[in-house]
Amino acid sequence: MSRDRLSAWLAACEKLLGADSIHAPVGLEPGDGATNVSLFRSRCAPATVRPMTTAQVRHMLRTLSEEVPGVSVYPLSTGRNWGLGSAEPVDDGAVVLDLSRMDRIRSLDVGLGLAVVEPGVTQGRLAHALHGTPMMLNVTASSAHTSVVGNAMDRGVGLRRQRCDDIIGLEVVLADGTEIQVGAWPDDDTPRAPYPHGLGPGLVPLFLQSNLGVVTAAVVKLLPRPEQTRMVTVRFAAEDLEPAVDELRHLYTRGLAHGVLKIYSASAVGVYGGLRRSEYVAYICVDGVASVVAAALAEVERALGESGLFHDFRCLSPTDQGADVVEDVVLHALTGDPSRNDDMLRATFGVTAHEVDATSDQGWLFFLPMIPFTGRAVAQARSLLEKVKEATGVDCGMTVNAITFDLIDLVVSIRFTRNFGEVEAAHRALNLLYEWFPAQGFVPYRVDIDHMGLVPALRSHPGQSRLVELLKTALDPQSLISPGRYPAFPHH
Ligand SMILES: Cc1cc2nc3c(=O)[nH]c(=O)nc-3n(C[C@H](O)[C@H](O)[C@H](O)COP(=O)(O)OP(=O)(O)OC[C@H]3O[C@@H](n4cnc5c(N)ncnc54)[C@H](O)[C@@H]3O)c2cc1C
Repeated sequence: MSRDRLSAWLAACEKLLGADSIHAPVGLEPGDGATNVSLFRSRCAPATVRPMTTAQVRHMLRTLSEEVPGVSVYPLSTGRNWGLGSAEPVDDGAVVLDLSRMDRIRSLDVGLGLAVVEPGVTQGRLAHALHGTPMMLNVTASSAHTSVVGNAMDRGVGLRRQRCDDIIGLEVVLADGTEIQVGAWPDDDTPRAPYPHGLGPGLVPLFLQSNLGVVTAAVVKLLPRPEQTRMVTVRFAAEDLEPAVDELRHLYTRGLAHGVLKIYSASAVGVYGGLRRSEYVAYICVDGVASVVAAALAEVERALGESGLFHDFRCLSPTDQGADVVEDVVLHALTGDPSRNDDMLRATFGVTAHEVDATSDQGWLFFLPMIPFTGRAVAQARSLLEKVKEATGVDCGMTVNAITFDLIDLVVSIRFTRNFGEVEAAHRALNLLYEWFPAQGFVPYRVDIDHMGLVPALRSHPGQSRLVELLKTALDPQSLISPGRYPAFPHH
């Protein structure tokens, strides 16, 4: 990209948005300077523009496509994609389109359970707006200062379900500056069904984990707040992992438990700043009306007890204090309350969400395969992590997030101190994870910026990359938006 063209465009953006909305590092070329928390790259901070309205995004993309070919933008919402690249673009040359100033909750319908939010709306703010209403937000375990829209754009996972299942409509600006709405969109005057599929091919999924448009608002489906929520915690020995996972699955297939089952290995508890023990710990959500909860809890306790695999059975209510920071975060997040989540950052990094990337001497890397919800698959994953430890010395954390009765989002977490030895070992371990897990059929569902080039090879059929290429060529022929993100073919 020519620096003259970039400067001209940034000057035009400055005129449109005001000087405080532009950050353009002077005199630095890619390759120099600072890094983010994950130490993915060693280079200068990218140029950043921060629009406040959809009209400004439309205008910026139109001028980009018509007047300055060769400049690309990388939209992000709050840029806290920790462990996967934070706020760094995949392509070093892209200008970051930081949408965090677009932070309006445009509408909130607690009757039907719909919120229309812009990318800068954090899960903490939306959860707070729902406080005391019959609806709650499906929150994640990440900071309260992360974005609802940004997380869904990478198909993140909340405590209740995968975040993309919360999104039923999107407002999108295409590469030529055209604004469109896809999926269901509420209308103040005419009642409309919150039906996301419309007619013909579904269009909402086209813009998740894609680089086909800039999302400027989303319709988020809320969840009815259960009358009562209880969290059962149990522990089990590492050697019982396989039968314990199968036994826990049985609670979900029988309809006794809801939401996302979470199981942490001892190392994972340590990675997130909890009290490290030698065993696994599981968090099971039982909720509904009080009489149903009481009956389900009795059955859960009986079934787990009879299996002989579990001990330390406890039942917590949302007014209780968790035994450690991890337990406390999960307990509250299950009820749509992310107010404890930042304690996990403080416990591991000793800093706030706003300081993590800039000042911490710690880093995280995440590897996120989907695996079948069976004890056998989880045990197989654990064996691979043991092999990685043998090869690199890195003790990866393993968190099972069972998002449906058949599917586990397995979070493999690596925490390191930012010195050369630990950074190098962490990245070596991550590379092995990308090699060994897919070889067993455990393919990641979400990828960090350094491994985007592997995406075409990880797709289950080569025809899929061709289709992605056809869509990209039709919608963004100049590759203006997020080049290299979940690409059709390896990006150069
Ligand atoms: C302790 C800890 C716990 C975590 N727990 C969870 C968890 O439970 N679940 C989970 O999913 N993650 C978790 N994470 C990972 C991460 O922090 C979250 O996923 C976070 O929500 C991502 O950051 P963000 O919301 O700022 O999204 P962003 O960084 O803004 O967005 C992510 C990516 O989506 C794309 N994008 C964003 N906005 C747009 C847009 N408007 N238009 C087009 N493309 C866009 C961009 O490519 C961007 O890089 C955790 C991390 C840590 C450190």
